[in-house]
Amino acid sequence: MFDLAGKVALVTGGNGGIGLGMARGLAAAGARVVIAGRDADKSRRAVDDLRANGGQAEAIETDVTDEAAVERLFAEIERRHGALHILVNNAGTTVRKRAQDMSLDEWRQVMDVNLTSAFLCCRGAHGLLRRQGGKVINIGSMLSIFGAPYAPSYGASKGGIVQFTRSIATAWAADAIQANAVLPGWIDTDLTRGAREQVAGLHERVLARTPAGRWGVPADLAGIAVFLASPASDFITGAAIPVDGGYSIA
Ligand code: NDP
Repeated sequence: MFDLAGKVALVTGGNGGIGLGMARGLAAAGARVVIAGRDADKSRRAVDDLRANGGQAEAIETDVTDEAAVERLFAEIERRHGALHILVNNAGTTVRKRAQDMSLDEWRQVMDVNLTSAFLCCRGAHGLLRRQGGKVINIGSMLSIFGAPYAPSYGASKGGIVQFTRSIATAWAADAIQANAVLPGWIDTDLTRGAREQVAGLHERVLARTPAGRWGVPADLAGIAVFLASPASDFITGAAIPVDGGYSIA
């Protein structure tokens, strides 16, 4: 039910953090993982890590905000593998400022990396996914649900991810493509290390608020990635699933 042997999975931003945690899960379940990130050295290290653990992995250097580069990415996947079964839209960034202090460029940068890239990748992947049916996994956030003073563009992009996911879930159900969003809680990665440094008391507040009593780690996202990529989730589409140690219900 959870076997991904013979499947090709693309993970944007799969060279670190949550993306690499999900890539490890997908590779361990048998998928060939293609990582799309900008940092070639980081991607090489991630590919080495996946291969060292017996996985099949490769990287294609891509800025997912660049429309032409995204088109080249899917053309290259088709050339190399002739198929794509699983798309994980995980690349993300943030600018921690209140709206009144944020420039238009900063707003656009976050929207482009977190939301517009998911649109570009979904559009680019659709032709390949619909050939045999497929899976789209979009990464939202607790800020898909809650507000935060320092996250106007991040929150808007992550709220948008949930609605975008519902839109393609309805549009592509007839193509046997399921699309779901994952909403991670507070996970220890480069992104949140920055937040912990910039936002006083954040580390302690997360610990106090999370019923599981700990920060998440990227490996906590491996199981949901395998589940949503596998036939086990074939009747689940348009869902937004928290993976948060209980943060969103406490
Ligand atoms: P990281 O900063 O560790 O990873 C982000 C990844 O996105 C990097 O691997 C980076 O690769 C890639 N990326 C950024 N911009 C681009 C771009 N333009 N083109 C291609 N790749 C890009 O952060 P996380 O692992 O924490 O975040 C992963 C996702 O999870 C994000 O969408 C984030 O919003 C979300 N999330 C994280 C939470 C957390 O607590 N950590 C909580 C909720 C959601 P490269 O350096 O090669 O560009």
